[in-house]
Amino acid sequence: MHKPFYKMTPNESKFLRVSESYTSVQGEGSHSGLPCHFIRTGVCDIRCSWCDTPQALSSGDFWSKEKILETIPAWIRLVQITGGEPLIQKASVIELSTILAAEPLGKKVLLETGGHRSLEGIPESVHIVMDIKLPGSGEDNHAFEKNFQYLKRSDEIKFVIKDQQDFEKTVSWIREYKLDKICNLLLSPVWGSVKLEKLVTWMLEESIDARIQTQLHKIIWGADATGV
Ligand code: SF4
Repeated sequence: MHKPFYKMTPNESKFLRVSESYTSVQGEGSHSGLPCHFIRTGVCDIRCSWCDTPQALSSGDFWSKEKILETIPAWIRLVQITGGEPLIQKASVIELSTILAAEPLGKKVLLETGGHRSLEGIPESVHIVMDIKLPGSGEDNHAFEKNFQYLKRSDEIKFVIKDQQDFEKTVSWIREYKLDKICNLLLSPVWGSVKLEKLVTWMLEESIDARIQTQLHKIIWGADATGV
């Protein structure tokens, strides 16, 4: 572990509410398969029907910056801030991302968000993975399109698809907003709900230029494992 490179002040004791922090393998998106340290923030302000991190919905202790940085192994290049919903604690997330990306740490920072809170002000250096929630989630009534202006070409929009209705809504989002011109697109089946084969067939039939993804960590450790 690296040594903390700054001194804590009394105000830093309640920096970020954290549900869990652990090193594993990135299971999703364009960084899938790479070693990654995950900082899972506590608390979420929506309730997706298929949420696979119920432990983070309303729990989490406040950690200092120093404690967070001490948990990240020096050799790890990729750090993902996820949740819960990280943007509930936006100011701290921006500050933490900036520290992680700058020297001497020089990490690649991924930010995973539900897409219902504004991405304005997220540093350019952060790789954003934003959900667009679909009808099957029960949380599709948010103005996700307001965030499109803040996405870079290299960022990712993720659709978690529960059934055919979700896929059809995905197609209409992509076509209406030309999302494939904005950033990279991920199609992810709700675990156990849609067969990958079916999702691939639908994608090819509709000529959708996206990446089908599985949740690699669930294949490795099982669907219910946490902290991996
Ligand atoms: S946004 Fe994420 S953490 Fe919140 S309910 Fe949905 S899946 Fe769970």
